[in-house]
Amino acid sequence: MKSRHVRALIEADRIHPGQVARHYRERIAAFNSRLNAFITVLDQEPRARPADAGRCLLAGLPIAHKDIFVTRDVRTTCGSRMLGGFVPPYDAGVVERLADQGCVLLGKTNMDEFAMGSSNETSYFGPVRNPWDLERVPGGSSGGSAAAVAAGLIPVATGTDTGGSIRQPAALCGVTGLKPTYGRVSRYGMIAFASSLDQAGILARSAEDAAWVLRAMAGHDPRDSTSVNRPVPDYVAALAQGIRGCRIGVLENCFDTGLNPEVGERIRDALRVMERLGAKLCDIRLPHLALSVPAYYVLAPAECSSNLARYDGVRFGHRAQDAQDLPDLYRRSRSEGFGAEVKRRILIGTYVLSHGYYDAYYLQAQRVRRLIREDFLHALETVDLLAGPTTPTPAFRLGEKTEDPLTMYLNDIYTIGVNLAGLPALSVPAGLVGGLPVGLHLIAGDFNEALMLAAAHAFQGATEWHDLVPPGFEESAS
Ligand code: GLN
Repeated sequence: MKSRHVRALIEADRIHPGQVARHYRERIAAFNSRLNAFITVLDQEPRARPADAGRCLLAGLPIAHKDIFVTRDVRTTCGSRMLGGFVPPYDAGVVERLADQGCVLLGKTNMDEFAMGSSNETSYFGPVRNPWDLERVPGGSSGGSAAAVAAGLIPVATGTDTGGSIRQPAALCGVTGLKPTYGRVSRYGMIAFASSLDQAGILARSAEDAAWVLRAMAGHDPRDSTSVNRPVPDYVAALAQGIRGCRIGVLENCFDTGLNPEVGERIRDALRVMERLGAKLCDIRLPHLALSVPAYYVLAPAECSSNLARYDGVRFGHRAQDAQDLPDLYRRSRSEGFGAEVKRRILIGTYVLSHGYYDAYYLQAQRVRRLIREDFLHALETVDLLAGPTTPTPAFRLGEKTEDPLTMYLNDIYTIGVNLAGLPALSVPAGLVGGLPVGLHLIAGDFNEALMLAAAHAFQGATEWHDLVPPGFEESAS
């Protein structure tokens, strides 16, 4: 395969149909055992190609879906024992749309259980390894998708982002990760974690590749009541606009404490590149941003405790054997089906929603959420984009943070505020620290994905970080 970029792959498939998918199937077969990036690998296309494949936007493009998107007749586990044997009878909106545009599904990627985690270590199917250093985590929860794209096992993959789960693993694996505006992409058939925060997005090699996929994936879906009915711009055409004159607010909050100094330097270097390309930089502070982690860890568990109530061992999912009576069936099925992190979230969520604590925790967190969104909107009146580091550190070691949930939660400190505000954001590779990738975080106003992608594209035109391949995963290696 000469080029791994989406445009070239579509062109190659037009000339030699099936060859592109074959190439990636071979890479998955050769490398997945090192990474554990896939929970399910498909040898055959689960559905026929669209009849007018020639006119599809992404004809022949191999894709992998995070195992949180339901796929008809293909097992969908959400990284949990609870859904270990679940074969859905229908496709998620995203899956359907991308298949209609000619994407070829090669597999389902590994993830933290029910998307709760920042390291992929909560998956029932074992941790994913970071292709840059197999002893380190790929980030989470879309770690399987990020590792697979980084190692060249798939050109693009879907992910979901509730508090950073696309951008954080993208940063730690050195790929481009895009979380669209809440409501831009359908949540129909995307297994719910925290419905007011969950949003589907893309992990790709470049902003250009992400633009190709977003154009096919975005749009209104009447089956998701929070999906927004507004036209989908041509994100690919908009890439050409560049960033001359674009005002970028640098989120100074992120440089205060906890940031690895070398990561900080790479981000400052990246911002200087933006400046050279014609952007105008200024400093911005969001007064309530520091409250985003505490607010999120009240709201997300509250919503998850409600969403996960459906896994009762009766309708679908894991069912315990030998239950004494109905309450015992619920108790045993849920105790056996869920892992420790999911149980912790359900307990926190049930607590903050309970009578007597609801006002003190849940309502208070909702008020803080509003203040955070207002901070962002206020800042975006004076600048076009906000920028900062995606994560405080490069990838950490497997097992390093599993004993201490609070340290783990702090890994999303820069990404979570964006979900609370519902805004679009992306992470682009911005250099290496100790041989490990670092991500630059860009945030835009509501539905301004086009500007954010254009800025990232301009940056990638001037840098080569997004083209780096982890040692041992070169196209010639196997
Ligand atoms: N790491 C965060 C959490 O554990 C965010 C997860 C996500 O975005 N799905 O909740």
